[in-house]
Amino acid sequence: MPELPEVQTVLDTLALRIKDRAITDIRILYKPIVSCSEKRFKQSLIGQHFRTFKRRGKYLLFEMDDLTLVSHLRMEGKYYILDEKTPISKHDHVIFVLDDGKQLRYNDVRKFGRMELIEKDEEYENFKDLGPEPFSDKFNLEYCRDYLKNKKTPIKTVLLDQSFVAGIGNIYADEILFAMKIDPRSRADLLDDKEIRTMIHETGRILNEAIQAGGTTIRSYTSSLGVTGLFQLDLMVHTIDNCPICHTKIQKTVIGGRGTYYCPNCQKLKKQTRIAITGSIGSGKSEVSRYLREKGYTVFDCDEENRNLLEKGNAGYEAVKKTFPECINNGELDKKALSSLVFNDASRKKELEDIMHPLILERLNEHKEELLFAEVPLLFEARWDRYFDQNLLIVTNQKILLERLKNRSMSKSEALRRLKKQMSVSEKKKRADKIIYNNGSLQELHSSLEEWLQEIRC
Ligand SMILES: [Zn+2]
Repeated sequence: MPELPEVQTVLDTLALRIKDRAITDIRILYKPIVSCSEKRFKQSLIGQHFRTFKRRGKYLLFEMDDLTLVSHLRMEGKYYILDEKTPISKHDHVIFVLDDGKQLRYNDVRKFGRMELIEKDEEYENFKDLGPEPFSDKFNLEYCRDYLKNKKTPIKTVLLDQSFVAGIGNIYADEILFAMKIDPRSRADLLDDKEIRTMIHETGRILNEAIQAGGTTIRSYTSSLGVTGLFQLDLMVHTIDNCPICHTKIQKTVIGGRGTYYCPNCQKLKKQTRIAITGSIGSGKSEVSRYLREKGYTVFDCDEENRNLLEKGNAGYEAVKKTFPECINNGELDKKALSSLVFNDASRKKELEDIMHPLILERLNEHKEELLFAEVPLLFEARWDRYFDQNLLIVTNQKILLERLKNRSMSKSEALRRLKKQMSVSEKKKRADKIIYNNGSLQELHSSLEEWLQEIRC
């Protein structure tokens, strides 16, 4: 299937051959290729000159004097410039007779190609869902970061999505990912800024090189070869046997229905396991987080993120200010007032959660670590377990729990009141993937955690 460089090559070739030629007659041999009526197509185009040759994604745009002819080659569309004496092939479907005696013939074995007429400078309906051109300023870090951030699909699938970036097909997607050293199966949302920058750079470089390679073949085109734009770029991975860099056997797999080639040695698979740590107040979650951090792991702290977001000027503060003006005193958020307000009013609590949860989730999604822990106090109550691959529940018996809370100078009644608001331990246990009991010494807790980490790493 022709991709951006091939389409560009076809356009450049046609520009050299038929620029400013007028159409003197048209024969349509297979009607479905042309989207409007035969009569309108002919009436609109006969007498018009081919003036400018443009491309949008994989669409060819022939700007005539008064209107634009849009052509999509789909699977196997080709243009030939032939003498009128050349016999018509059974795959020639539309013939434009030119004022120099030559004919521009649209040939398409599969008959999937389409032609349409649009007003000059009209924003063509099919372009609405088309992403930016890979060479345009719009295909930049901010745009890509924003587009990829919630995409759990493989990066290969996203590169092929014409609404992300226009013009990339199966071959160049594989080549771009090889140059990025990223496994095509990697989750798109896990690319970090550096990798996104590399993607933008390599996309431009590879497509440009392909256009250059196509350009060098233009000179060798003769009318009998047809303007197919097909040429052999030096491919590094697509349909290659052994990696040109490390000589490992190139693997073939299928992603989104498309044959995909990658080097298992050079291309890194970006994946992530997210584990939530939960437990009631005083259960020892914080000690678990502290221990994991000490071991070098990243632990995302939902409470801390919540506090940060509510700092004056941050996104949470701004949203809360609008919804809970009664909790703002002299421009400052009265956190105590806010928490007692929502503690006693379920609907207001929901309002606050609807503000804060997406913001916290967004922060969580910014983390690309392969193994990511998060301390989520109300994991099951907030139904946040769906955002994690696994969860760990820390359980402490109530007597020890109350003892610990007393040391935090919390009254027994306050402690019980808080515990009662949470889901019962037995309910939590049903939902937990792993339970660690924290009823003994710190050393005992640490050795349980060590055992668990061994399990996870396996
Ligand atoms: Zn390799």
